[in-house]
Amino acid sequence: MARVYDTIFFGDSLVPAVDAHLSVVSAAVLYGLSVYTVFTLNIAKDGTRLAFRLSDHYKRLVHSAKIIGIDTFSNTWSEERFLQAIKSLVEANAPTENVMVRVTVHVSELIPGTRARGLTSTLSAFVYSSAPVLPPLGARLKTSVWRRIPDYCIPARAKVNGAYINSILAKQDAIDCNYDDCIILDNNGHVCELSAANIFIVRDGNLITPSPDHDILEGITRRTILEIARDLDIPTFERTVDLTELYIADEIFASGTSIGATPVIEVDARPVASGSIGPITLKIRERFQSILLGTSDKYRHLVTII
Ligand code: PMP
Repeated sequence: MARVYDTIFFGDSLVPAVDAHLSVVSAAVLYGLSVYTVFTLNIAKDGTRLAFRLSDHYKRLVHSAKIIGIDTFSNTWSEERFLQAIKSLVEANAPTENVMVRVTVHVSELIPGTRARGLTSTLSAFVYSSAPVLPPLGARLKTSVWRRIPDYCIPARAKVNGAYINSILAKQDAIDCNYDDCIILDNNGHVCELSAANIFIVRDGNLITPSPDHDILEGITRRTILEIARDLDIPTFERTVDLTELYIADEIFASGTSIGATPVIEVDARPVASGSIGPITLKIRERFQSILLGTSDKYRHLVTII
């Protein structure tokens, strides 16, 4: 069950969650015309709150807005203003558990028609906690009957709300078939990602993940995992991945803000190797956890104390 904390940043102030409203005739509601990002806020051993890669999340939001043509965000929201808003939100809610923060730029203009430029936008941010979206000990995946929307239709590298209908169709199909999540293929039948997570496979000691030209979201966890692997001297490859490579992979894991690095133990009724977390996944996951909790000096710059 998800828990949304009581105070929400909306527009330019903090308001009770029940008062953060968008009109039903806004472009955000009519067309799903909003872009967003989600980052984690973890409690370190000494009780400080650490936001993960805040600056990168801000940049991705700016890039998403730019791709879609929402030009009233970066003009009015500098990174400094963004940071101040997040700080005030976190201080107002004072979470004492590990949580996530979702920040959305909604196009709040009323009945603008099907366009994006020059329209009023409203930023919202809220803190929430939720149960893991994948089983932490190992997820079972099914190849989806739905394909990822290609870059030339709705760009996956823009995290745009309306595009998530594609993920919802794919995830629901997996759930209906008694799987935890899905493998979405791109338009050419190559492996893309899960419904809302990137995918990695291990073959003969090499770490492999689909390259950005396969219509993936360029995940911030994905990028961190590639950095970790290089530091651990694990050879990394961003390339085309065929579905059948998943069937014979030594290890598979999914990556994302809400799941960290979660092992995959089955794909299309085929067990992945031993059916439990593999050694490379484990190594990477441990290093990733230490980064989130600020215990790794080398990566200290990736977290912001709030
Ligand atoms: N792909 C999709 C479609 C997603 O929604 C997400 C979650 N944001 C990811 C990948 C993972 O991205 P990140 O590591 O930035 O959370």
